[in-house]
Amino acid sequence: MQLVALDEIPSVRTVATRVEPRALRAVRRGHPWVFDHSIRSQQPNPTPGDLAVIFDDRRRFVGIGLADPSSPIAIRMLHHGSPLAIDARFFADRVGDALARRRSILDDPDTTGLRLIHGENDRLPGLVVDRYADILVVKLYTGAWERHLRAVLHPLVEACDTRTVVLRASRAVQRSWSSNAGPSWRHEGSVLAGDNLDTPVPFRERGLTFLAEVRSGHKTGFFLDQRDNRQRVRRLAAGARVLDVFSSSGGFSAHAAAGGAVSVTSVDISAAALDVARHHVAVNAPGTDHSVVAGNAFDILNRFHHQRRRFDLVIIDPPSFTSDRRTVPAARRAYGRLTRAGLDVLADGGTLMQASCSARIGEAQFLTDIRARFGDWLFERVETTGQPVDHPVGFPEGGYLKAVFAHRGRRPGTG
Ligand code: SAH
Repeated sequence: MQLVALDEIPSVRTVATRVEPRALRAVRRGHPWVFDHSIRSQQPNPTPGDLAVIFDDRRRFVGIGLADPSSPIAIRMLHHGSPLAIDARFFADRVGDALARRRSILDDPDTTGLRLIHGENDRLPGLVVDRYADILVVKLYTGAWERHLRAVLHPLVEACDTRTVVLRASRAVQRSWSSNAGPSWRHEGSVLAGDNLDTPVPFRERGLTFLAEVRSGHKTGFFLDQRDNRQRVRRLAAGARVLDVFSSSGGFSAHAAAGGAVSVTSVDISAAALDVARHHVAVNAPGTDHSVVAGNAFDILNRFHHQRRRFDLVIIDPPSFTSDRRTVPAARRAYGRLTRAGLDVLADGGTLMQASCSARIGEAQFLTDIRARFGDWLFERVETTGQPVDHPVGFPEGGYLKAVFAHRGRRPGTG
């Protein structure tokens, strides 16, 4: 496959960089980020995608990274230690490492949707590549990658049978695109190579079939990181009345239905997402008693509570409620309200699954907060899970997803 569109990219310069002592220590420890306020000098002034070479006060090489002067993360480190050329071979090696880490999923014909490159955690900082069958979706978190896209995509396209490559970008990168003109492929959802694509992409997850909205959906079109938790839900679902709150396109709903749930109720604020959820349940478990409810999850849980509705398996997988330190307390309160509301509709002997994708709230904290809401209920077993193998955690900030499965006993005194 030809990545022709990417040919006209200006050449990359190296930029001699000095940073504050604290940042230098972090880079030596292998941390992937250097913030703009830690930079002492750069010569010449970088443009996004230049290679920032960090030296210490004795002019020794410390590391090399991608410069992005438009971002608070001014350098995303590619390598530290001894000097190394950043060339096609370097990117091919990094891609090879990432693919090797995912061998177990790549060899599994029942799962064709997975994350191939997970940014910093695969030592390709600011770059995500997801695969849905023969479609690759590249998501940029820094414009610095634009000039290296060809080098990093070429080995991926070679290794994976690829029909189309689609480009997505973070809001910050999209803003930079709209503020200055560039090549025609620089827009959200553009097709970088291969066939045009105007329908959702079918792929498999643990034997079930789903559709990914790769050109416009959340993230790259599907929430791939919940694969293992969905399988766990599927095993718990036999004979259960299942409530899937913040269902989005119904990944959990479909797995629960396939696991033999007697009924599945999907709740989301997006009616469009619920239409897709309806489809996903229907194709994977025809005949399931499935209902969808569009609206605010907090209100709907409250309404179900007042209607005395009960479920044997309650799944709560909200969007991130916090992106910076200041909003952490409010986010923890919101998670707490959801735990309470989930427990209010949970039947005796049922299971509550609650997830959080807020990187700023750690697993221990999240578990403690959930336990604090248990009240006088007995819980037979409480388990936590983390990220699946295609979302490795390579640095402290790389861990974001955790889920608690709380299996409820019976209320004391109810026999
Ligand atoms: N569980 C999903 C992923 C959830 S993503 C899966 O497995 O694929 C978060 C979802 O929450 C999005 O679909 C979004 O539309 C929905 N959402 C955001 N705020 C909401 C609210 N207040 N009430 C209900 N749904 C909400």
